[in-house]
Amino acid sequence: MTLDNLKYKTAYLSLDSEFYDMTDPIPLDDPYLISFNPNAAKLIDLDSSSKDDPRFVALLNGTFIPKGTRPFSMCYAGHQFGNYAPRLGDGRAINLGSINGWNLQTKGSGETRYARTADGRAAMRSSIREYLMSEAMHHLGIPTTRALGIIGSQTKIIRNQIENAAIVMRLSPSWVRFGTFEYFYYFKEYDKLRSLADYTITESYTHLQDDEDRYYKFFCEVVDRTAKLIAQWQGLGFCHGVMNTDNMSIAGLTIDYGPYAMLDDFEYGFVCNQTDKAGRYSYGDQPNVSYWNLTMLSKALSPLIDKERMQKKLDDYGNFLYPDAYIDVMREKLGLEMKLDEDVELITDLVGTLQDAYIDYTFFFRTLSRYDGDRMPLFDIAMNPVPVDGWLNMYDKRLSKEVHTQDERQKAMLKTNPKYVLKNYMLQEAIDLAQKGDFSMVETLLHIAAHPFDELPECERFAGETPEEHKNVCLSCSS
Ligand code: AMP
Ligand code: MG
Repeated sequence: MTLDNLKYKTAYLSLDSEFYDMTDPIPLDDPYLISFNPNAAKLIDLDSSSKDDPRFVALLNGTFIPKGTRPFSMCYAGHQFGNYAPRLGDGRAINLGSINGWNLQTKGSGETRYARTADGRAAMRSSIREYLMSEAMHHLGIPTTRALGIIGSQTKIIRNQIENAAIVMRLSPSWVRFGTFEYFYYFKEYDKLRSLADYTITESYTHLQDDEDRYYKFFCEVVDRTAKLIAQWQGLGFCHGVMNTDNMSIAGLTIDYGPYAMLDDFEYGFVCNQTDKAGRYSYGDQPNVSYWNLTMLSKALSPLIDKERMQKKLDDYGNFLYPDAYIDVMREKLGLEMKLDEDVELITDLVGTLQDAYIDYTFFFRTLSRYDGDRMPLFDIAMNPVPVDGWLNMYDKRLSKEVHTQDERQKAMLKTNPKYVLKNYMLQEAIDLAQKGDFSMVETLLHIAAHPFDELPECERFAGETPEEHKNVCLSCSS
């Protein structure tokens, strides 16, 4: 398909007008293409030659509004750092409609009705970060939104300094957030709450559509998906940074990439967001915060679903859904095929070991993936090898109970433990160059993002531990 014959659906607009506001994008000045993502283009059957069509930049910039689209922004609320904000919404994002179940949205397209006092724009820096990381997460097997492309401009915006604005086009199976439900709950608009639940079931839980107990089952599946998602984040070493309920996807996806980080040296309490002084969204607390966020969702759904049934499901999250999901993720990372009770201790001990060893999280697992009994490669990458030595005694014992061969284990682990993840220092290098008009590193990182498990000789310098001066840096959430 070319940009002309894409067929858009606008199912969200069949909801009551309170759910959204019809909003025209406000174009940026002198827009230019920074990057086009051919993998995301395939999702909507868009020809990759569209990259060279000037209307692609115009589509992102809002000066080409294709037939069948009706631009709108969505309302939502949310608990931000624990405090309820009754009116948030897409302050800078504009939805065009959906293609093949992917809802297209431009972020940074100017003020909307929900912008409050903000400018409706997005900095090039944070747009590049979202564009690249969403792609990386997808190829690492983590449910996420995607991004089709990104444009830059000469439009100036004020953040910590004066910066250039950009627009990223994001794609998602759903843009509904926990906070969308909270919006209608707190305004006591229970009919609309029900319409939203029906819409969400149709969009993201279609198999429940005709089920008599669909609202309860829908809630249960949101809890299941969230438990699995967060277990995957923890296993990968991903810190989201702003897990407000408006940034929690009802479809169990990673959404709204802000001051996120991949762990460098393992640090359980690592906080990647400078604004988060209390460490509410630290790496180690992500599973607990998700539980809290799910509790807020259950409150918002209480006019539709029996509270006690939901509480039982929430208890399950803490008792076994999340812990089991996490142990499964870690078993895979450790190359363990059998499920033994003792694995819980092995994994718990590993967390303490990594904390004490001062060791790069991603590099540790990649190095462990080639473990053949020789401990030196692992000792070499730890600032403190003593705890690693102790833990390897446990690991050796555990491996001896496995039936698969060392070779099989290594192969499986190399497909599970990435060689490349996008660390903040890599992204910063790409951003620094992009700000000088050189987008080559954005392309390099897009390539790395799509091949996290491969050997990429030309990218070898990004494979090891994070350079000392860039380790565990906390980022501003201004975007
Ligand atoms: P975020 O922290 O990016 O998830 O945003 C939280 C809320 O603030 C959402 O409702 C956003 O739409 C809104 N927001 C953030 N930055 C801007 C901006 N520059 N202009 C308008 N709204 C914004
Ligand atoms: Mg957000």
